[in-house]
Amino acid sequence: MIEVNKMDLSNRVTIITGASRGIGAAIAQLLARHGAFIVIADINLIGAGKMEQKITNEGYIAVCTEVDIVNEASINKMVNFTLEKYGKIDFLVNNAGVNNNTDINEIKIEEWNKIININLRGTHLCSKAIIKEMIKNKFGKIVNIASLAGQIGGLKVGPDYTAAKAGVIGLTKSYARYGAKYGINVNAVSPGFIETDMTKGRDDPKSVPIGRLGTPEDIARAVYFLLSPLSDYITGATIDVNGGLLMR
Ligand code: NAP
Repeated sequence: MIEVNKMDLSNRVTIITGASRGIGAAIAQLLARHGAFIVIADINLIGAGKMEQKITNEGYIAVCTEVDIVNEASINKMVNFTLEKYGKIDFLVNNAGVNNNTDINEIKIEEWNKIININLRGTHLCSKAIIKEMIKNKFGKIVNIASLAGQIGGLKVGPDYTAAKAGVIGLTKSYARYGAKYGINVNAVSPGFIETDMTKGRDDPKSVPIGRLGTPEDIARAVYFLLSPLSDYITGATIDVNGGLLMR
């Protein structure tokens, strides 16, 4: 039997990286409205502060902190800040990412390294630092934001981004295997074309079977499901949220 409160996230301490805007901001707002205590972690502290204000003005709980997800000292500061504030970490959403649109023949090594480093290594570094805290509590859920690009090859993004996001799907499975014995679920959400600053000018709604681009809220709902008790038996999975683009 399904209990009615299965979607309640009350008091669940949730770190969301890259949550000052776009998909991360929508995730932060939705989870806060369902009772989670949100840590908005972003390289852009001013943007993160504005998001904190927006959520607290609605009467929900959020704090912000600065993080650069490729810098281990910065990640440790984010973890310590959260533990000092709330005493535990229940959920991590690895959302921060950067993309590009550079042709295979044009990519410079510096760009390749940056894209792989932030999207793939950043996800690993945050997971590694935070899963340790989850293990102590024998509970936790991690959701990684992958990309349709990693499943079908980038339509309008570079091969480095595509490879990094395919890597995120693999990393999700590695962490899922590792975390399972400690009561920790690790899954990914793979967005298609979502209307955010990242995709401005590259959108093409006609190519989407459902007939519209996705919204950040479409992704937030899948993340919410994966953090709720409704998904307790799901781990190592990737949920496709792309309006049908994957089957096209
Ligand atoms: P966005 O609007 O560009 O937001 C990304 C956020 O991440 C920004 O706040 C950015 O800060 C932050 N960030 C970048 N590098 C960081 C770092 N090193 N440490 C901490 N924060 C950092 O992107 P979005 O469209 O919401 O995308 C969110 C996630 O979904 C990304 O992982 C992206 O790859 C993935 N995704 C998006 C789409 C789409 O169609 N939009 C599709 C598939 C997957 P700044 O403001 O300083 O840049």
